[in-house]
Amino acid sequence: MKVLVLGAGVIGVTTAYFLNRAGHEVTVVDRQPGAGLETSFANGGQISASHSMPWSSPSAPFLMLKWLGRRDAPLLWRLRADPAQWFWGLRFLANCTPGRSTANMEKNLALALHSRALLKEIRAEAGIRYDERSQGILQIFRNAIQFDAAAKDAERMTKLGCPETVLDRDGCLTLEPALRDTGETIVGGVHAPADETGDAHTFTHALARVVAERGVTFKYGVTISGFDTERGAISRVRTNQGELKADAYVMALGSYSQLLLRPLGIDPHIFPTKGYSVTVPTEGRNGAPTVSITDVDHKIVYSRLGDRMRVAGTAEFTGFDATLTEDRARVILTHAQQQFPNAGDFTQAKLWTGLRPLTPDGVPVLGRSKFSNLYLDTGHGTLGWTHAAGSGQVVADLIDGKTPILDMSRYSVDRF
Ligand SMILES: Cc1cc2nc3c(=O)[nH]c(=O)nc-3n(C[C@H](O)[C@H](O)[C@H](O)COP(=O)(O)OP(=O)(O)OC[C@H]3O[C@@H](n4cnc5c(N)ncnc54)[C@H](O)[C@@H]3O)c2cc1C
Repeated sequence: MKVLVLGAGVIGVTTAYFLNRAGHEVTVVDRQPGAGLETSFANGGQISASHSMPWSSPSAPFLMLKWLGRRDAPLLWRLRADPAQWFWGLRFLANCTPGRSTANMEKNLALALHSRALLKEIRAEAGIRYDERSQGILQIFRNAIQFDAAAKDAERMTKLGCPETVLDRDGCLTLEPALRDTGETIVGGVHAPADETGDAHTFTHALARVVAERGVTFKYGVTISGFDTERGAISRVRTNQGELKADAYVMALGSYSQLLLRPLGIDPHIFPTKGYSVTVPTEGRNGAPTVSITDVDHKIVYSRLGDRMRVAGTAEFTGFDATLTEDRARVILTHAQQQFPNAGDFTQAKLWTGLRPLTPDGVPVLGRSKFSNLYLDTGHGTLGWTHAAGSGQVVADLIDGKTPILDMSRYSVDRF
């Protein structure tokens, strides 16, 4: 079958990998000059099944109120006259109940565990390296109440198949000695040893090269503007370079999926949520962590990527405005410098921003659409790197006529 994958981010390229393995004739289309150059470019690097709890959780409304109007807030809800943002916000709040957030967490976890296992398989089969590490993720806490709650959650996560170990302060400092310089305020931590880290852009770029050698065609510099439909199916894709036709189409345009799907009468409820990262060269220094760290108080994650330390965080609701606001990126840089003063050369840090394609329930949108040959693989929000391999495989299985290993009704666009 001829399949057109729309988008060469980590999601599109991973889907192309599985479709190619299944023997389909695959073309990937992207407006950028290469793979993984938008949101998949410089994310936090975590493969974090342990972070399956969506942002829409019972503590979110309180935190959003607490941070309202603070420029250095980890989550910045800009007061804009955009009805789409407000409707999305209401849906987000509706998902913050204990029942719904737990159900959404379980959907994310099932996909994350499947995906984490597949990622290992892909790197072995395709022979690619991407500064990957398998030392787990350590969440650190400075607030005893939050730590106690996380310790209880650790039991639940372990029972659900994601083992987590609770550590006191000394345990944290032994596991990650780089925390010793400034670790006196830590009250404890939770370590998920099976979680991983790696550079999503290096992975996407390398996998795109491998699948191109295996026959996948990449059309870069092509901007998709819309679709034509006939008798309940997509008949062609319109682009700035003419029309493209295939038997099946996969929507993997990240945040922009929303803009292309709405005219088709499909609403995946994706809202772009801006985040920032800084990448600090660590060469010649020995104070950067090798275990990935999630600083729960500051909502910042640290991943060691070869001779670089990636630090990422913050969420800003400003629509499709992808401008890098230097103040926001510097909030992350300052926290990183305070936490790991000897990690690297902070004057050489590279600042970056990207738009997370976030749904109000924090669960991606996968599977069939109301058009018989249009498949959705989008809305991965905060967990796109974690979920990429699993999402690519289940969507490729659907196209291939196989029954996917996961219950696809849990990720369907029809849930909204
Ligand atoms: C600061 C930050 C930190 C993060 N940290 C983590 C983390 O630690 N772990 C994790 O699992 N996830 C993390 N994420 C989330 C993760 O990066 C995303 O979910 C993931 O990259 C989304 O991938 P994607 O392929 O759907 O989107 P993208 O990578 O954005 O790919 C979409 C592609 O579509 C193309 N495109 C869009 N519109 C058009 C058009 N009209 N025509 C042609 N091409 C088009 C774009 O060029 C792009 O290449 C983070 C995100 C951010 C912003």
